[in-house]
Amino acid sequence: MSPSGAEFIRQRKAQIAEVDPSAVHEVVGNGVAIIDVRETEEFANGHLPGAKHVPRSYLESRIEGVVPDRGQRVILYCASGQRSALAAYTLSEDLGYEHVESMTGGITLWKDRGYEVEVPKRFTAEQRDRYSRHILIPEIGEAGQRKLLEARVLLLGAGGLGSPSALYLAAAGVGTLGIVDNDVVDLSNLQRQVIHNSQRIGVPKVDSAEESIKALNPDVEVVKYRTRLDATNIMEIISGWDIIVDGVDNFPTRYLLNDASVRLQIPVVSASILGFDGQLSVFKPYDGPCYRCLFPEPPPAELAPSCGANGVLGVLPGTMGLLQATEVVKLIVGAGDPAIGRLLLYDALAATLTEVKIRRDPQCAICSRDPESISDAEMGVFPDYEAFCAAAG
Ligand SMILES: [Zn+2]
Repeated sequence: MSPSGAEFIRQRKAQIAEVDPSAVHEVVGNGVAIIDVRETEEFANGHLPGAKHVPRSYLESRIEGVVPDRGQRVILYCASGQRSALAAYTLSEDLGYEHVESMTGGITLWKDRGYEVEVPKRFTAEQRDRYSRHILIPEIGEAGQRKLLEARVLLLGAGGLGSPSALYLAAAGVGTLGIVDNDVVDLSNLQRQVIHNSQRIGVPKVDSAEESIKALNPDVEVVKYRTRLDATNIMEIISGWDIIVDGVDNFPTRYLLNDASVRLQIPVVSASILGFDGQLSVFKPYDGPCYRCLFPEPPPAELAPSCGANGVLGVLPGTMGLLQATEVVKLIVGAGDPAIGRLLLYDALAATLTEVKIRRDPQCAICSRDPESISDAEMGVFPDYEAFCAAAG
């Protein structure tokens, strides 16, 4: 017979290490990672000083970003010590953390002992005003807005797709936006890359984007990567982000990004554009198909749009970039049905949006396997790019 819920928790508690609040109190601020596994709303009402917030429902996907070193001492707590006990079991048994403890009695006992609680800043009057139209929507509300302000979203490219999505994510109050881009603003960009302007021609796109974002919403912190994403830097750059917005314009990077994001289990909101046509899908590792499930092989070189300059309707990346931004907000606040396992095809000339179902490939070279088993050497396996484009003629 299966154990009751209470019995199951008792069993788990017997399998993990527990620590009394008095012992935790002695190590606060001493290089021990103290992790609050409660929900956003509970964390917002007060937490242990210096505690990092990793809700239990995001434990597997976020803990590495917060505690990259599996040898570090980690203390988990919740309200009463139950959720943290289950989370401690996951961290030590499934994720290989070596020194994990759960605080007995949770923050309730901590408070009873009279220890200090840090209360995060409430919305300022300005924030209440700025985000009032979000707070009015039940699917977002104050809790959702807080999640947006806590969220970390990485944009690959501050070009056609990245420009509108960065602007709107900043306006929506996504607290931390990372931008990876190696280019400078060029006059030919301005037909669609609306985060830049005529005064900033020749300025690095990451700097120009930061200036526009800061002017729009000072709540947003911008993390700039003025570099090109490649196999040597991708793991370092994308680790610790909640969601990636893929605006990359070439196949090799797209495959590399897919493999790295599956390995780190970070969802990617992906879009591409050509002429009057746009495509969009959300690749959430192990929840739906990955990019390789959809396109196991890159298209023939002569059909690859990324080998040279291609024409595109200036408005189209705006449409597609905002569909991406919409999916990002939905994922952060947990509203609606994200486009996981679906490919949306937008035909601007016909004014139609078509949906194609896509499934996980049980034979997929990447996502059919455990993330830990994907090696560096296997990531981004792709024909030589120069040769690939040369073959396109
Ligand atoms: Zn796959």
